[in-house]
Amino acid sequence: MSTNSEAAYATMLEGLPPADRKASDCQHEVFAACCAVTRLEDTGHFVCELRVLCVQCREPFRFLGMPPGLRTTAPACSIDGLEANLPIEPEIVKRLFSGASYEMPHIPTRH
Ligand SMILES: [Zn+2]
Repeated sequence: MSTNSEAAYATMLEGLPPADRKASDCQHEVFAACCAVTRLEDTGHFVCELRVLCVQCREPFRFLGMPPGLRTTAPACSIDGLEANLPIEPEIVKRLFSGASYEMPHIPTRH
């Protein structure tokens, strides 16, 4: 985790009410997220670092479907999966993406 995202995460935690239940007893119904943007110096690239947790029990959420690491052209996550590293760029040139799709979620036995 970089310094930017550590500071954003600490600031978010300070603003939250205390957890009122254990993660094992929680349905995870209220969320908080924080993000920080890091400039990768001398490269012209930017990364949005995103973290999500449950406000009720403080359980952090893991990002799925991303390889661990840091990339400048595709999303990746931290080695523990708790931080998404999302490459971003200024919208100087307008782009529309074709080929959008939606996947129906699998319903787990515990959620
Ligand atoms: Zn929870």
